[in-house]
This record gives sequence, C-alpha cells and structure tokens, in this order.
Amino acid sequence: IAIAPSQLQQGQILLTPQQQHYLGQVLRLGDGSRFIAIDGKGKWWLAQLEKSQAQVLEPLEVQTELPASITLILALPKGNGFDEVVRCCTELGVAVIAPVVSGRTLLNPSPQKLERWRRIAQEAAEQSERSIVPTILEPVSFITSLSTVTNQRYICEARGDFPHLLDCLDDKELLTNNTGQITIAIGPEGGWTEKEVECARASGFQPVSLGSRILRAVTAPIVALSIVVAKLES
Ligand code: SAM
Repeated sequence: IAIAPSQLQQGQILLTPQQQHYLGQVLRLGDGSRFIAIDGKGKWWLAQLEKSQAQVLEPLEVQTELPASITLILALPKGNGFDEVVRCCTELGVAVIAPVVSGRTLLNPSPQKLERWRRIAQEAAEQSERSIVPTILEPVSFITSLSTVTNQRYICEARGDFPHLLDCLDDKELLTNNTGQITIAIGPEGGWTEKEVECARASGFQPVSLGSRILRAVTAPIVALSIVVAKLES
C-alpha cells in the first residue's frame, strides 16, 4: 500500500481507516500478515499487521524505476480519455505528467479532475510496484509548459516529414547518465497549431514522428513512452 511519510512513526505505520479497510476487508489480511508499504518517494518497507496497525519489519531495496526521468507534456483529450493515459503512462514509468491546454484543446480541466488523475496515478503506481508516484502537475497553457528544462525535448507531430523518435534518442549510456531527462509533448485530437510547433522549436523541442499512421491523442503518449522505455531497458 502507499503511505504518507508522516504515517511512519517509531517503527510503526499508523494506518488510516481506509487503509485498515483495504488490508482487512479487501485483501483479507489478518494479524501477523505481511505487506509492503511504499511512501511514493522511493522508500519501501516490509510491514506486519498487528491489531489494525502495522509494525515495520525491515526497509526493502527495490529498483523498479527507469534510469532516466521522463516528462510527458500532454494536451488534454476530450472526455475521460486522460484517465487511461495517466494509468498506462504510470505503469510504463513516467516521472512527470504535465497536462496542458493548447489552441485546439477541447476540454476545460477542473480541480476535481486533477485530484482524480493524482488518485489514478497513485493506484497505478501501487499496482505496478513502482517506488515513486508520478507527479501530475496543475494544467497550464502549452506555451507556459515549454519552459520545462530537460536535456532532450521532443514534440510529436502527426504530419510532416520528421525523423522517428527512436532514431533521435541518444544512445542508452548518454540517456541514462545522471542528468538523463527527457520531455515529450503530444498534441490534442485536432493536433498542434503551426504557431505552437514554432514556439516549441524555439524552446529547443525537436519535432519527431511516431510512425506512418495517425494515432489517437490517447494512444500517442503510450506509444512514445513505450519507445523510450524499450530504449532504456533493452
Ligand atoms: N489531426 C491531427 C493532425 O493532423 O495533427 C491529428 C492529431 S493526433 C490525433 C493527436 C496527437 O498525437 C498529435 O498532435 C501528435 O502529437 C500525436 N501523434 C499522433 N500520431 C502521430 C504520429 N504518427 N507521429 C507523431 N505524433 C503523432
């Protein structure tokens, strides 16, 4: 289960009523059962249930994170499509998701949506046994998001003769050095405007292709991330 760092006190995990319910009623764990607690910031512990609280048995050394940090700048798709994007990209290992409103974005994000996406990221991180929960930033305009400073920046463009993302990524050693940070921007259903691509280029983003077919706005981030993950982990 995911816990807040403040729940860990003197070798005990102070479980919330929701966590007690999840462990006891959903997972049907009883006194003496063991489970793993993660704090969403890279720390894991083996813990044991004891009378609706938990005793920490030992810290665990686990490596489920990618050797480079990936930020996705995603123009919000319409409907609830973003829920699935957050879930899949968390499973794949994204570090930061920056939802943006671009010229052709059809959705107006609400604070409730942001809460929902953060909850989905937490659940997906738990199920994928990740040691961090990805950060979901507050939605901003696409132009504001361009100030992201990472050493490799790409903007996916569905039309035009651009090199494939796979051919543009540095080799694995360079990608995974200490400053290994990659940002990838994906447009909305209607695509980026010309001005947006120009601004991105001026901010150091290289336009790239994800292949010969036009992918939906909810499919493209998953494909882009899979390409980077395959490069990093192969
Ligand atoms: N009608 C739009 C256009 O012509 O640009 C299609 C937009 S597509 C549904 C949504 C976003 O996914 C695009 O803005 C782009 O970022 C990304 N995308 C989809 N297919 C792509 C491809 N084959 N190569 C690169 N990016 C792609």
